[in-house]
Amino acid sequence: MTETEDKISQAREEIENASNIVILTGAGISAESGVPIFRGQEGLWQNYRPEELATLEAFWKDPKLIWEWYDWRRNAVKDAKPNPGHYALSELENNLQKVTLVTQNIDGLHQMAGSSGVIEMHGNLWQIRCTKCGDIEQNFDVPLRELPPKCKKCGEIGRPNVVWFGEMIEMSLIDSILKAIEECQVMLIIGTSGVVEPAASMGLVAKQANKTVIEINLDETPSAGLYDIVIREKSGEILPLLFTSNRTLS
Ligand code: NAD
Ligand code: ZN
Repeated sequence: MTETEDKISQAREEIENASNIVILTGAGISAESGVPIFRGQEGLWQNYRPEELATLEAFWKDPKLIWEWYDWRRNAVKDAKPNPGHYALSELENNLQKVTLVTQNIDGLHQMAGSSGVIEMHGNLWQIRCTKCGDIEQNFDVPLRELPPKCKKCGEIGRPNVVWFGEMIEMSLIDSILKAIEECQVMLIIGTSGVVEPAASMGLVAKQANKTVIEINLDETPSAGLYDIVIREKSGEILPLLFTSNRTLS
């Protein structure tokens, strides 16, 4: 048995013995669907770092530029389809008493794969929120007709309904994630670089509460040393092997 096969079988055993699992996903799970990640060469947009663009300050400095970036991101996601990783997670819901799926992604691919009750920590790429009246519009236009888009109710400019660096995530969301971690036996952390808070600390919270933490990520991450099982492979290849009984690693 190779080292990876050994880890897969350990992870399968942990998952089979659990009735309640929390899953945290990041941009890596959508990489095999062709959606660019942030932290990698292909994640760069016109040589800007996401930290320079994804802030309220950057938005007010140049709303058109920020909307051009979001227009590009929406274009990158519009034809993307869920990959076997997303589907494996949605199937997991049928086999376990409780699955809480928390994502930092804003692409909506988990829902498209059939996952229910997804907690979107960072919002959604297909929603525009008015900067004045707060009205939220679902909008699937690619490209957008007007940059920046205007609110249909009050005419003010809209912003992406996402959480930017320096912005707060709703406390009720954080509370429900912490409660789910407290109640689970196993936490899976998939395709997240582990540098964006508060998601980055969720695995540590689980470890402090003595939960089994399994990480799947192509690259090294800052907290991997604390986790129980770490698999350095593509999530779209590994996840289907974790939850079905009759497959082997090719
Ligand atoms: P990130 O870009 O910082 O890190 C992605 C991680 O995925 C990296 O550690 C990389 O090694 C790993 N990875 C890449 N391909 C993989 C694969 N096939 N299988 C497993 N792992 C793989 O992403 P993050 O940690 O989610 O960063 C947080 C921010 O990025 C969030 O605010 C999120 O909203 C935003 N983001 C979202 C999307 C999306 O919605 N799809 C895309 C880019 C960025
Ligand atoms: Zn408005």
